[in-house]
Amino acid sequence: MITRSPAFLQRHDEAKPLVTPPAWQAQLAGAIRDPAELCRRLGLNEAWRPGAEAGHALFEVRVPEAFLSRMRPNDPSDPLLRQVMPLGEEALTTPGYVTDPLAEAMHTPAKGLIHKYAGRVLLITSPTCAVNCRYCFRRHFPYDDNSPSRAQWEATLDSLRGDPTIREAILSGGDPLAASDRQLAWLVERLEKIPHLKRLRIHTRLPVVIPDRVDNALLEWLGATRLQKVVVLHINHANEIDDAVVGACERLKAAGVTLLNQSVLLRGINDGVDTLTALSERLFEAGVLPYYLHVLDPVAGAAHFDVPDDEARELVAGLRDVLPGFLVPKLVREIPGEGSKTPL
Ligand code: SF4
Repeated sequence: MITRSPAFLQRHDEAKPLVTPPAWQAQLAGAIRDPAELCRRLGLNEAWRPGAEAGHALFEVRVPEAFLSRMRPNDPSDPLLRQVMPLGEEALTTPGYVTDPLAEAMHTPAKGLIHKYAGRVLLITSPTCAVNCRYCFRRHFPYDDNSPSRAQWEATLDSLRGDPTIREAILSGGDPLAASDRQLAWLVERLEKIPHLKRLRIHTRLPVVIPDRVDNALLEWLGATRLQKVVVLHINHANEIDDAVVGACERLKAAGVTLLNQSVLLRGINDGVDTLTALSERLFEAGVLPYYLHVLDPVAGAAHFDVPDDEARELVAGLRDVLPGFLVPKLVREIPGEGSKTPL
């Protein structure tokens, strides 16, 4: 389970607003964090409870109401529920499944900064997420060691200022949009003053799980920046995209954002041609282009989601048979030490 030290919590309190928190923050605070409550709300019988408690002890459950409302009650195989439901399998040890599957600890030259690929850097902008996805490759990430104070951010930004090869800053986390707009505006204001930076990319699941996150305060700083803006959403199943999510996408596009999506191929959730086809179709209806389909990163606790490479290739071949090329996501794996994602 992720726990935060008092010093860490104090640092992140710097951006606490003095006025009434926006609606999305109340939804974030009200997310379900109790596995028994999750089972009860979805009508799952008592047999699910021990496994849910065991998984929760390793990585806490977190599900906002807006996401819960898209799940089918009384259906333990619901594809949205399966992404967030803790299970006893998470406690199993599987050879090759480790706590840092992408060896990110080797690529953190400054606090909050991950530099793996040429031309772009990743900033750990928030240590938390609105939803805790059971397959997350950062479920064991040491956020306490990578959550800069503002003074420490300045030092991290200095390393960007001094490297003219960096053209793109990627806000990541956790979920970067879990940070307050005040904090994000502060950071982006500094980023856009770095002349060699051209693009701002945001990797987020918040517009999906709490669509109200895309409010006027967010659109204000995002719409105002001189940087080209790309938001990479993370959606794994067409059922995640309801009218509220479509509305959030429309607001982002109106602010000049290019919208892409990345998915993870997950056993029992989206491992079928029909399911992936429906996802691509629904994404495009919402104005989002499918970008990547990742095979699972071998993170400890998530082996039960794995789909073998040969099966993954067959699925994507099946997508090519029925979809135009621009709706077929690139099937990739991230291999530690490689200079880019590796196509499969
Ligand atoms: S939202 Fe992203 S970073 Fe957060 S738990 Fe899910 S996959 Fe991981």
